[in-house]
Amino acid sequence: MVKDNILNIRERISSASSKIGVPTDSITIVGVSKNRAVSGIKEVIDCGIINIGENKVQEAFLKYNELKAKGVDGLKWHMVGHLQTNKVKEAVKIFDLIHSVDSVRLLEEINKEAVKINKIQDILIEVNTSGEKAKFGFNPDETIDAVKQISEFKNVNIKGLMTVAPIVDNPQFARTYFKLLRELKDQINTLHITHYTLHILSMGMSDDFEIAVEEGSNMLRLGRVIFDGIKNK
Ligand SMILES: *Cc1c(COP(=O)(O)O)cnc(C)c1O
Repeated sequence: MVKDNILNIRERISSASSKIGVPTDSITIVGVSKNRAVSGIKEVIDCGIINIGENKVQEAFLKYNELKAKGVDGLKWHMVGHLQTNKVKEAVKIFDLIHSVDSVRLLEEINKEAVKINKIQDILIEVNTSGEKAKFGFNPDETIDAVKQISEFKNVNIKGLMTVAPIVDNPQFARTYFKLLRELKDQINTLHITHYTLHILSMGMSDDFEIAVEEGSNMLRLGRVIFDGIKNK
């Protein structure tokens, strides 16, 4: 079941990426396994998905330890949900990439904890591309300034940008927000806001990942379409 879902997803990514002439293997699938049992995650891993996304630190920690105890190695752990400052200490211990950096205050905390364990923490800056009040993330027009500030912190490395598109009936309506994120990343790189180039665009979920790929996403965060097999709309 999960195996068929993943085969189907890979085909859909492949046809979306071929439209814009991007190699399929440059696009990373993060299997978002929040609320899923470890047995299910194990199935996903057996299909070759090694990037695992969670949205709660505590839940991630339990699964991280359980998989480790089962001898599963070589996974990359992604924090995709809102991160509270009081969870940063634990988060920095297990996550390879924190997608959801949405304030300079949070970043300060991440940097502080990373210093303590002598780690360079890879992060993405979350942008609230749609401006919805309920969403986390920097406003698009604050983003460049935030990136400038954040890139000065020694123990964090900004790898790119992340956004969560609004829930819409037609995934085509999400395109504007993906495009905005891509343009922001290009602008940051062109203006040399950081001393290094940002490569990652984390955008696209179960309902809109093909549109995200067409707009330049190279990191998809997929939950339901992997575990429940949402069909093409
Ligand atoms: C749950 C979640 C996902 C995966 O969503 P699906 O619609 O199940 O693919 C992706 N990103 C974030 C931030 C999430 O919380």
